[in-house]
Amino acid sequence: LLELRNVWVEYGEKIVLERVSLSIAERSFVAVVGPSGAGKSTFLRLILGQEAPTRGQLLLDGVPMRAACGPDRGVVFQRYSVFPHLTALRNVMFGIECAQAPFAARLFGAQRRAARDTAIEMLTAVGLEHSLDVYPAQMSGGMQQRLAIAQALVKHPRILLLDEPFGALDPGIRLDMHALITRLWAEHGLTIVMVTHDIGEAFKLGTRVLAFDKRRTDPHAPHRFGAAVTYDLPLDRKTATPS
Ligand code: ATP
Ligand code: MG
Repeated sequence: LLELRNVWVEYGEKIVLERVSLSIAERSFVAVVGPSGAGKSTFLRLILGQEAPTRGQLLLDGVPMRAACGPDRGVVFQRYSVFPHLTALRNVMFGIECAQAPFAARLFGAQRRAARDTAIEMLTAVGLEHSLDVYPAQMSGGMQQRLAIAQALVKHPRILLLDEPFGALDPGIRLDMHALITRLWAEHGLTIVMVTHDIGEAFKLGTRVLAFDKRRTDPHAPHRFGAAVTYDLPLDRKTATPS
């Protein structure tokens, strides 16, 4: 689905990602771990198309990826992924409007009613069917993340990017979110790339765990794959087939 070929990201002198070459298979669940500053969010921004590599290439379905995020990619951050001034229903409807009417972001008549139905369906899938008219500020952290996931998924993206989506949640709520994301991943045939600080979460949810390191290439061992990605563990113990 997605391939990175010898990708570098540099900010002036600072090398954030160095010689990253990997491919992400359709329907895999890639968990990305690593210390703060290792370049995990940068990696997600690359896939999102919000950032261009300074060297190397990203291929989507074998075609060099262009900048700007298409509707094929959805994203959820640790916090503040939704609009505070819109209710749950309006937030998800806005996701549909952006995909269907990218320039006006407004739908009317039958299209609007269809969008409303789709939004309610998506909110039901994440367990927010009783909170349609609630504003994010009145929601718990877990509810806000459910809403953010609904908003990201309603566009039917092929790739869902999650940047520490459960980092701010209580342990019990996290477990509920694990069950939810695993179900949505299977049901929607999604490819997920999720950054997490929690190594247990990475191994529990991921079909593959990608560890980023801050260590840079050792000049005395130039043949070593000692770049930003130091381990890549294909854990072919799960298959993402819809149940
Ligand atoms: P965290 O776990 O804290 O979220 P991260 O692994 O997501 O960390 P990134 O946010 O990808 O790390 O940042 C990697 C490095 O790139 C950091 O050292 C950061 O300071 C640097 N960096 C990121 N964006 C820029 C920028 N626009 N200009 C300069 N440096 C940047
Ligand atoms: Mg980050």
